[in-house]
Amino acid sequence: MNAIRPSTQIHTTCPYCGVGCGVIMTPVAKGYQLKADDQHPANFGKLCSKGAALADTLDNDDRLLYPIINGERATWDAALSKVARTFQRIIAEHGPDAVAFYVSGQLLTEDYYVANKLMKGFIGSGNIDTNSRLCMSTAVAAHQRAFGADAVPVSYEDMETADLVVLAGSNYAWAHPVLYQRLAAAKKMRPGLRVVVIDPRRTATCDIADLHLAILPGSDGFLFNGLLNYLRREDALNLPYIEAHVEGFSAALHAARLAGSIPEVALNCGVPESSVSEFFRLFLRTERTVSIFSQGINQSSSGVDKANALINLHLATGRIGKPGMGPFSITGQPNAMGGREVGGLANQLAAHMNFTDPGHIDTVSRFWNAPRIAQKPGLKAVEMFQALAGGKIKAIWIMGTNPAVSLPDADQVRRALQSCACVVVSDCVRHTDTTACANILLPAMGWGEKRGTVTNSERRISRQRAFLPPAGEAQPDWWIISQVAQRMGWAADFPYTRVAQIFREHASLSGFENHAQRTFDISAFTDLSDDDYDALQPIQWPVNAAHPQGTPRLFTDGQFFTPSGKARMLAITPRRPAQATDAEFPFVLNTGRIRDQWHTMTRTSKVPRLNTHYWEPFVEIHAADACAKQLEDGSLAQLNSRHGSMLARVRISEDQRHGSLFVPIHWSDVFAQAARVDALVAPITDPISGQPESKHTPVCITAFHPAWQGFVLSRTPLHFDDTRYCAAACCGAYWRYELAGGHHPALWSDWAHDILNLSADWLEYRDDATGRYRAACLVDGQLQAVFFLAADHHLPAREWLANLFKSEPLTTSERAHLLSARPARDGADPGRMICACHSVGEKTILNTIRQNKLTSIEAIGLSTQAGTGCGSCLPELRHILERT
Ligand code: SF4
Repeated sequence: MNAIRPSTQIHTTCPYCGVGCGVIMTPVAKGYQLKADDQHPANFGKLCSKGAALADTLDNDDRLLYPIINGERATWDAALSKVARTFQRIIAEHGPDAVAFYVSGQLLTEDYYVANKLMKGFIGSGNIDTNSRLCMSTAVAAHQRAFGADAVPVSYEDMETADLVVLAGSNYAWAHPVLYQRLAAAKKMRPGLRVVVIDPRRTATCDIADLHLAILPGSDGFLFNGLLNYLRREDALNLPYIEAHVEGFSAALHAARLAGSIPEVALNCGVPESSVSEFFRLFLRTERTVSIFSQGINQSSSGVDKANALINLHLATGRIGKPGMGPFSITGQPNAMGGREVGGLANQLAAHMNFTDPGHIDTVSRFWNAPRIAQKPGLKAVEMFQALAGGKIKAIWIMGTNPAVSLPDADQVRRALQSCACVVVSDCVRHTDTTACANILLPAMGWGEKRGTVTNSERRISRQRAFLPPAGEAQPDWWIISQVAQRMGWAADFPYTRVAQIFREHASLSGFENHAQRTFDISAFTDLSDDDYDALQPIQWPVNAAHPQGTPRLFTDGQFFTPSGKARMLAITPRRPAQATDAEFPFVLNTGRIRDQWHTMTRTSKVPRLNTHYWEPFVEIHAADACAKQLEDGSLAQLNSRHGSMLARVRISEDQRHGSLFVPIHWSDVFAQAARVDALVAPITDPISGQPESKHTPVCITAFHPAWQGFVLSRTPLHFDDTRYCAAACCGAYWRYELAGGHHPALWSDWAHDILNLSADWLEYRDDATGRYRAACLVDGQLQAVFFLAADHHLPAREWLANLFKSEPLTTSERAHLLSARPARDGADPGRMICACHSVGEKTILNTIRQNKLTSIEAIGLSTQAGTGCGSCLPELRHILERT
């Protein structure tokens, strides 16, 4: 371990995605200055738009500041005692399986460790599951089947040194932006590096793709089996490697033969034969291949099979355990990997031990001195909330996550929470869709306040360090859980007073009776001092006596963690998604992330510039489908599935396949009305991993015709009753509301005046015949609010008006043009925000390209600064350049 870095700079880790970028926080006169850590091996000085904006998220607005019981402020002692008593009573009356914990990839490893120890070791139930179930439990299961352990074989560096990178079901550019930037930089340095994107949607990631296979949703297994069969036919398998290090080869090959020839594969996948041939030839001739897979593979009812079909290709060609080669599962959350290490999933035990091996149960039981340890796996996330709805689970403790928004069948999840007598939520945020259902709220420390470790997608453990005082009475999650455990009678087993104690215990368990049988081994940290823990530098596990400096690459010796020591190829029979489209629900709904928001927006929504890229929920649809459904770009649409419905703004996009729709996952009731996409998603899961099929829900889409539509921009936050649709975004100097209503207010003017409730100068225009109303409200010549309402969505652009909120008293010309919403001069309307770092809009970029005849993104950067910050907007800049 290296020495502590002596300075007032705090080296910590970004709390968003699984890339795990290092950031440095430096106290300045007003708050903290953030910069990317150029020494951190995950990002080497890069950050994406979300990470770069972290310093703007540190206020205590809407923080949960003290414990609350049934809506009333409570003391910590009262709240902790009530949780302990309630859980004890329910366990005594109904048994340990009547309670559950639902935890989060946002927790630090030490928090996760203590939660898992309490539930599995001492309460004696397996009922602890994590929201990581929704993003990567499929990869865990596939790793265990293939390698005998949940072990990611490669490092980020392998991706950069590969000659072919296959991205399967990953919008890398938006979901893992810094890795995308590293890949783009590697490709720029070595143009021979080929990138293949396999995704039904043309995403921003395709910007650097040499080949994009826009396959039929869910048909990946056919493609991978077809490739294995092709490699066999072309005599391109690594038979010596297979002989020495792989089992299950014959059965896997036999199953793959059924994939047929290239034309059959192309037909099954819905892509041209030429594209399939090109991909197969590229894979065949490129030894150094890294295959990255993410939610597009994982969130499927046959995701584990798909992941194993992909891993099969690497085992059959011996492309694993060597530089620049291997299958690579990329995790979504900052500490999904840490959760896997401590047993945060209901079917895991701890330290990569599991329930299928009775010896493991005994090992963990003796290490914890836990005589009533759970003997079987608990309920996985979707099952857990179904058991809650059915009354089998009578008390649930949710930590740092928002299942009322993010779980499939989200309306049913919310009803289940509302009907449960004991819902405990520990969180750092006061108002979420889930805290609204809680009886007991426990304030947890947030990022910048808490201390601990996280593990990123390449097995690299990094420290999160504190640089802020706790908000209000907030406490670390591990403390909260330990206090409840102590009150339940296990004080001696949960004696923790410092987070380093927990890390040492976790490290010790990883090495306990391990004998090189379990890949997760950080036993080198068993005796780590508190000071060394504080100074811990990023390092990849295993970290043990044999590998004291960590392990960048696994399986270099061809030895795996199966009983035979050989990796397993699996015989895969590809399956279509569980639910097919039909006449009633003819479209496939695909869900995913957007560039500038994270999860349910509780942190990223605090940053105005992150809200201006996409400010309201939207549905992307192919132009032909939109035409057939009579949907105009910018209009509102209603989506229905067998489980629920939502409203969203229509975005017509040639990037969609015919018959497919894309809706982002981020909007909750806190930010929009009727816009939770998971209300539509079916609670259908992979039978092995339990991961939901969030990428394939049959839905229908229809035009939504409210009585009126409109937008309001206001210097102060407003409240709207009686709307059918309302999406709110804080944009800095102003709030933006996109609205639709079921019936016209009798008097528009009275309605607007009531909402604003402000003594001011009003400029108003009303046309009752066309149902149009426009108003601007000024105080001392400064704009306070504008109201633009109409019979449909044909409304002026908002950006020029929005810019007026930055102004001091308006000029005469601006005042004169207010109600037409058109600037007096060209170029004053910047258009939709593209570059979040430098606030450069689409129209500004387009105008600059045209006026100056620009031909490169470097030239755009020189002229407008767009793309010269974090680089997250570079794919969109290229797209705009191509269009122009
Ligand atoms: Fe954070 Fe962006 Fe890095 Fe992910 S890629 S860890 S969101 S800075």
